[in-house]
Amino acid sequence: GERRLTNLNNLAHEYLNIAYQGLRARDASFNIEMKTDFDLDLPEIEMVPQEMGRVLLNLFNNAFYATHEKFGQLGKPYQPEIQVSTQLKNDKVELRIKDNGTGISPEIINKIFQPFFTTKSTGEGTGLGLSISYDIVTKGHHGEITVESENGNYTEFIVKLPR
Ligand code: ADP
Ligand code: MG
Repeated sequence: GERRLTNLNNLAHEYLNIAYQGLRARDASFNIEMKTDFDLDLPEIEMVPQEMGRVLLNLFNNAFYATHEKFGQLGKPYQPEIQVSTQLKNDKVELRIKDNGTGISPEIINKIFQPFFTTKSTGEGTGLGLSISYDIVTKGHHGEITVESENGNYTEFIVKLPR
């Protein structure tokens, strides 16, 4: 892929739709509330859009999976939700993806970026998504990717890219 000046809002919007269509193809009845808060003044930045798209797709798929799992456990009183936002902060373009799904337990949160680490059963996950995403963001784009989570409540991934 080639580096090009890219609007991260557009890229996030595009891949959120792709991930959502995949989710609906697997479960047409699943209803998730999607909230977006894009900074419309976000500057375009240099990136490899196909690679960053891969990061976004994995983060959205993970978020959808976590809410779908929780819905399977709790049923109707639970309203699955994903929040996607962008902002410019300290001269970095920041993207936040927050879901109110299963959350990540403290015992495993330091392992999730390792290759082949997965809590999903065979065929549902390879455990490669986050390790590939980590390399794309840090090595490929000189950025940062971090996670905050409360087990049972929420997970938020934060991607920061330098201008
Ligand atoms: P995979 O999705 O194939 O399991 P990933 O590298 O994408 O591999 O994720 C590794 C693990 O991190 C997942 O199996 C899951 O346990 C945890 N994880 C990642 N994102 C989330 C999320 N949004 N909510 C809860 N757990 C997550
Ligand atoms: Mg994944």
